[in-house]
Amino acid sequence: MKEYDYIVIGGGSGGIASANRAGLHGAKVLLIEGQALGGTCVNVGCVPKKVMWQASEMLELIRRDTAGYGITAPVTGFDFSELVRRREDYITFLHGAYQRGLDSNRVTVLQGFAHFTAPHVVEVAGEQFTAPHILIATGGKPSLMSIPGGEMAIDSDGFFALKEKPASIIVLGAGYIAAELAGMCQQLEIATSWAYRRDHPLRTFDKMLSENLVELYKENGVAMYPEYVAEKIQREAAGFCVTFANGEQLRADLVLFAGGRRPRTENLGLEAAGVGLDEKGFVKVDQFQNTTAAGIYAVGDVIGKVDLTPVAIAAGRRLSERLFNGKQDLYLDYDLIPTVIFTHPPIATIGLSEEAAVEKYGSERIKVYNSRFTPMYFALNDYRQRCVMKLVCLDEEEKIIGLHGIGIGVDEMLQGFAVAIKMGATKADFDNTVAIHPTGAEEFVTMQ
Ligand SMILES: Cc1cc2nc3c(=O)[nH]c(=O)nc-3n(C[C@H](O)[C@H](O)[C@H](O)COP(=O)(O)OP(=O)(O)OC[C@H]3O[C@@H](n4cnc5c(N)ncnc54)[C@H](O)[C@@H]3O)c2cc1C
Repeated sequence: MKEYDYIVIGGGSGGIASANRAGLHGAKVLLIEGQALGGTCVNVGCVPKKVMWQASEMLELIRRDTAGYGITAPVTGFDFSELVRRREDYITFLHGAYQRGLDSNRVTVLQGFAHFTAPHVVEVAGEQFTAPHILIATGGKPSLMSIPGGEMAIDSDGFFALKEKPASIIVLGAGYIAAELAGMCQQLEIATSWAYRRDHPLRTFDKMLSENLVELYKENGVAMYPEYVAEKIQREAAGFCVTFANGEQLRADLVLFAGGRRPRTENLGLEAAGVGLDEKGFVKVDQFQNTTAAGIYAVGDVIGKVDLTPVAIAAGRRLSERLFNGKQDLYLDYDLIPTVIFTHPPIATIGLSEEAAVEKYGSERIKVYNSRFTPMYFALNDYRQRCVMKLVCLDEEEKIIGLHGIGIGVDEMLQGFAVAIKMGATKADFDNTVAIHPTGAEEFVTMQ
């Protein structure tokens, strides 16, 4: 049996980051990956998503905004297949870059699916490996659609596998992936219907964000169907028909189900390792990423805490610092994690929504500042898209515990504000910061 200091199962965001950091500190590391290096983010998540979002933003800009500036720029062609081909070439380049990074840290990469046969023994294609420290970083995958015909719907993986552009699509789901894909499809000239079960999407986010997104999507031409509960999907001569509980039917070339994600824990032999799961099936960990089995850890989507690439990376790196660089007290604080949703326009958010803050602290302790304006970008345009921002503040000192925005450019504004908020910034700190004019970001420091 081959022996290592550290075995990492899963070569996605968390696994690669942790393996590299351990290797950097001199550990003998084995990284096992069953599919492609980079995991969800690189292959079927952040990277292809952002490429498609950028393409859809460019199309939107040329079609909608150029005329206002006196520029004649008709879209005379858009080759979806070429876009996908170039995107996949870029992903292939990233595979090489990840491999080179791992090589430089002397991490051994093994292609294959791993499972535990004993607490510290991992098997891949009949070969066994052991280490005192083993990381589970196997990520997640799309939830299945459990209605008749649900297997005919594609998921986000299926969307990124499309080589040709469908003429129309029905997106089912209310989460951020559904929101992103619906907006992107519409701008990529795919006639898009977006249906979800409840009265508004993005229910875990500040309501201001979801209300504005719905209105903006309607302006963008997305056909919105709130309170539409899908009951069955049928294939028709051309495309598919979705029947909803209210008796309505929608038809399109494709149906895309984006209804959440589940952990990849099957066939991992977690029982043999003594690794416990929580009630939702995610790997149970403490704040140091320790599972219920000594010397076995888990990071990333498989723990179901905050499913974002930088979160998996940060947790993986901190773990390796703790295990292989003597930083015994290091762990990831999962509070105040900023995130962007790549809708049209984008959404940026950190901290508590107004609703969650009121529920946690009571309305008398919460003060909210709002701003609604037309970014100067649209000053010359017939279409004047708004930007909406909100600060959620706590108590007399007005500590900022939530910052939310929807509008052009907010995606690139958030990171810096997140530093300030993580450091405990108050409204007075924001007020004391001189604005940068003319920008959209200045609104965050000039709210009354
Ligand atoms: C459509 C979409 C868009 C997203 N957009 C963003 C975004 O914009 N920003 C952001 O921060 N996050 C985004 N995410 C989330 C992000 O991709 C994940 O949070 C991140 O990839 C999680 O990293 P991970 O290491 O936990 O798992 P993964 O990246 O999923 O990696 C897990 C790896 O483990 C491998 N594996 C599984 N089982 C085994 C086994 N038994 N043996 C060997 N290997 C195994 C898998 O093949 C996979 O490569 C998006 C996700 C999706 C689906």
